[in-house]
Amino acid sequence: MSSVKEYKCLNCKAGLEFYPPTQNWKCNYCFSEFTKEELDAAFHQDQSQEESLKEDTPELDSYKCTSCGVELIADGTTSATFCLYCKSPTIIKSRFSGKFKPKALIPFKLTQEQAKDIYKNWIGNRRFAPNEFKGKREIDKITGIYAPFWLFDCKTEGFIEGEGTRVTAWEDGEYRYTKTKYYRVVRSGNAEYHKVPVDASKKLDDKYMHLIEPYNYKDLKEFSMQYMSGFMAEKYDVESEEAKGILKERVEEYFEERLKGTVNEYDSYSVRSNEMRISNSKEDYSMLPIYLLINKYKGKDHVFIINGQTGKVVGDTPISRSKQLAFAGVIFAIVWVLAVFGGALFV
Ligand SMILES: [Zn+2]
Ligand SMILES: [Zn+2]
Repeated sequence: MSSVKEYKCLNCKAGLEFYPPTQNWKCNYCFSEFTKEELDAAFHQDQSQEESLKEDTPELDSYKCTSCGVELIADGTTSATFCLYCKSPTIIKSRFSGKFKPKALIPFKLTQEQAKDIYKNWIGNRRFAPNEFKGKREIDKITGIYAPFWLFDCKTEGFIEGEGTRVTAWEDGEYRYTKTKYYRVVRSGNAEYHKVPVDASKKLDDKYMHLIEPYNYKDLKEFSMQYMSGFMAEKYDVESEEAKGILKERVEEYFEERLKGTVNEYDSYSVRSNEMRISNSKEDYSMLPIYLLINKYKGKDHVFIINGQTGKVVGDTPISRSKQLAFAGVIFAIVWVLAVFGGALFV
């Protein structure tokens, strides 16, 4: 038995996997497809029985990398043979023990095949990327994982204080005058923010995670183990208290922009100081879908991430020095040939 609440095909009893394009569950043996409602109805009885017994401990596998320490979680339908973060094959599989209770998630919309195509196009356009990054073996390593996030709702109030200017200019005979008037401009207000995401994984660089936003939170679903089938998940390692610091920065930035947007009767405006207070913050442990491929090249990590809902891509590739030199060589050779031919005309 793998997962406690694993769905089985209603026709052939094989395991079902979540199928992103239709948001249903699909049988890989007889190709039947079922909606969540159909499956919940069929499994309702066992589920409620078992749920009461084992609510906090669904049977999950843990894949722990002995070289970089990351711990990934999967249900019985997915397994890891290498570490997604450092590519090390030294993965220790065990029964996951601990708490894993996300509140919500956005299900994958992209299949792994689509993710591979996106990567293939992306890397194909990078002329100087090393060949190792372009091979099929590499492309096949793109993996769908649910990244842990804290989604915050909060209120904020505060003000910004700064200097506005109004400039008038006129001419009088041969003289040109400009007059600048300075104003102290204060704006205050309050706002409510919903679903502000804060990256809850130390392994995933915040910088990249912010770049693949936004997610469309209309698709946010209450967490259910069934969405895990076919994917891995990373357990959070940034506590919500720590995440609040980042929330504050993000909200301050939004809020300052918003207040600045109301200052429009001046020729220029710059903020000198601000003060903001965040209150009523409430967070939910949530998971957002990404496809991930991390490559090591000359000791440095190169990250490629696709937003598993929208398909937005963020990544960087190293520049292969030898390829770049070869390219420079070609240009040099052409110039040299031209020069030689050019010179030949005068002989
Ligand atoms: Zn089936
Ligand atoms: Zn690792």
